[in-house]
Amino acid sequence: MSTRSIRDLDLKGRRVFIRVDFNVPIKNGVIGDDTRIRESLPTIRYALDAGAKAVVLASHLGRPKGKPNPEMSLKPVAARLGELLGTPVAFAGECIGAEAEGAVQSAPPGGVVLLENLRFHPEEENNDPAFAKSLASLADLYVNDAFGAAHRAHASVEAIVRGVGGAAAGLLMEKELKYLGAALDTPDRPFVAILGGAKVSDKIDVIVNLIPRVDRLIIGGAMAYTFFKALGKPVGRSLVEADKVDEARDILARAKERGLQLLLPVDHVVAAKIEAGVPAETLDVDSPAIGERMGLDIGPKTVAAYATALRDAKTVVWNGPMGVFEIDAFAKGTIGVATAVAAVKGTTIVGGGDSIAAVHKAGIADRITHISTGGGASLEFLGGQKLPGVEVLPRA
Ligand code: ADP
Ligand code: MG
Repeated sequence: MSTRSIRDLDLKGRRVFIRVDFNVPIKNGVIGDDTRIRESLPTIRYALDAGAKAVVLASHLGRPKGKPNPEMSLKPVAARLGELLGTPVAFAGECIGAEAEGAVQSAPPGGVVLLENLRFHPEEENNDPAFAKSLASLADLYVNDAFGAAHRAHASVEAIVRGVGGAAAGLLMEKELKYLGAALDTPDRPFVAILGGAKVSDKIDVIVNLIPRVDRLIIGGAMAYTFFKALGKPVGRSLVEADKVDEARDILARAKERGLQLLLPVDHVVAAKIEAGVPAETLDVDSPAIGERMGLDIGPKTVAAYATALRDAKTVVWNGPMGVFEIDAFAKGTIGVATAVAAVKGTTIVGGGDSIAAVHKAGIADRITHISTGGGASLEFLGGQKLPGVEVLPRA
């Protein structure tokens, strides 16, 4: 059964509290990338169009550690949101108490109020019931649209739901659950997962959870070297997590048992340093010529093999770049795989901050079915863990 959606709530004449993810970069009061603000617009507009009496928005920003910190104020976000919505957004300098209540009470019909950073209060991260109740008292209904915060049992995400008259997922949250949920439970096949990035340890749960579900598992990036170590291949000074070699060996055994195609790089680009302009060489992964150098990208034979493995895919989940894509000399593997993912005729899902940056760098972001915004939350979800902020919401 799916999670109840904002579309199942009667919002007319009600005050709606929407937990959003406005955790955007702000420097000297100026907002950098405003993607997260833009992504909340459909849910806010939906509530206003459905006749909500007022929309009360709340978010965290940065890590103020339970104390007010002007550098992490959400005030600049209220102004930016107002521009994007084309309607003024009132800002309450406190998220609970008289100031918050006053701002909500004095909002005009169909008004929008943004509350100050929830994490200025330690009670937020402690999932404090009294604090959650104060937040809940600001509105009649609760909507969670902050997928990126759903893996945390925080007051505005978890405890608050027990104090409201009705609760549901927002449109962004609904979309995340739809795509990630379908990939895990009812994927069109072949289902291919691509895992890369810096560390096996970040993604081991995801690999283990995906083994029984996928038809092919593609591994690249630094994490491949822990697998190579397990296989006794020369790794030079590549990033290897010595304490994960046994787990990598275990994953290889499980994949074999399941008859799963687990693809590892066959060639790679090696260099002495992670630096633009250093001499680089492409070698087969079995070649001892790596010496004391590091593997920093997958090679062209690997890109070709991975593109072949993706050709007939109907579902693709990708998390983690294939190399140090930030440096052009080591970005070809990631860009090659991105191009192959973009060509897939099926559902493609990309998650992870660096992976999203990589698909933008490759210029194919608009050809991905779903770009998952919640880094940690999407990894926990794909790793088979229940998200507290989702579990607490009623079923449809
Ligand atoms: P995501 O943010 O998409 O989840 P990660 O944070 O796990 O991805 O990994 C991205 C980082 O991994 C990038 O900074 C990239 O440079 C690094 N990386 C990828 N391959 C290698 C490699 N072979 N050696 C060192 N670093 C690598
Ligand atoms: Mg990252």
